[in-house]
Amino acid sequence: MRVCKTAADMQSIVHQERQKGKKIGFVPTMGALHEGHISLLTRCLDENDFSICSIFVNPKQFNNASDLTNYPRSISADLALLEKADCDLAFCPDYSEVYPHEMPTPIDLGLLGQCLESAYRPGHFEGVAVVVKRLFELTNPHCAYFGLKDFQQFAVVKRLVSLLKMDIEVIGCPTVRTAQGLALSSRNMLLSESEKTSALALYDCLVYARSLVRETSMNKIKQKVVDRFKNSTDPRLEYFEIVDGETLEPVISAEAHSQIVALIAAYLGKVRLIDNLILIP
Ligand code: AMP
Repeated sequence: MRVCKTAADMQSIVHQERQKGKKIGFVPTMGALHEGHISLLTRCLDENDFSICSIFVNPKQFNNASDLTNYPRSISADLALLEKADCDLAFCPDYSEVYPHEMPTPIDLGLLGQCLESAYRPGHFEGVAVVVKRLFELTNPHCAYFGLKDFQQFAVVKRLVSLLKMDIEVIGCPTVRTAQGLALSSRNMLLSESEKTSALALYDCLVYARSLVRETSMNKIKQKVVDRFKNSTDPRLEYFEIVDGETLEPVISAEAHSQIVALIAAYLGKVRLIDNLILIP
């Protein structure tokens, strides 16, 4: 596996591979890698001739300074995992390589930039859009792989690619969970064992919502889930919403939607976790 710290080194290798007619796949990450990230890379390796994984903690997408400071970093372990998984190129740039000059926010995200996560993390998806656009320009891939664990992010990236008419196929990959159902996340490293157990309530309520979706109104489901968390401080519910999988607009009645997704955000101590589950189909 080649490891590049500069955009120029990475681009020269990718350019050579493209000239050989190779199909380039790309998995962007912020490091602290786990099996969820590796599942994206495995799919990328299966579907492409040359796979790049980037590790870059993007300050522009953190709306909270202490979240950025505390974000877990484990570059040596990450590189060992990528090597073991047979990644072709690890791209680990510094800030100045990704942002040699200040970049304006590239697109108006519309509702995607206002609803769900955006309401609680102002500017987050604008920061995601800027870095993904930049990383796409630098790596110039045919295909890029994102986890459905970050459902709204996946929608934002699809919107970005479509608005900027980038010739990149954006592929969503299923959420990898522990045997008990906790969605793998780099932030889980910051949880104590008892917080990890308490965090299972997130997946539990998503499964509960799915069990009710054909028989109860969306409002009632929402109310039942919110009630479950009423007296709970760990997890402390931030939001639970049921939305259309395409537009992310709230769903009133299940009919007339081909995909319905439930999304949740909650705090365990100071750690904020998100999860989601497709309720229909
Ligand atoms: P991050 O390093 O958290 O920015 O995540 C990098 C990519 O890995 C994103 O596309 C995430 O959606 C994806 N990802 C994170 N956790 C999981 C998971 N548990 N299962 C599948 N993909 C994931």
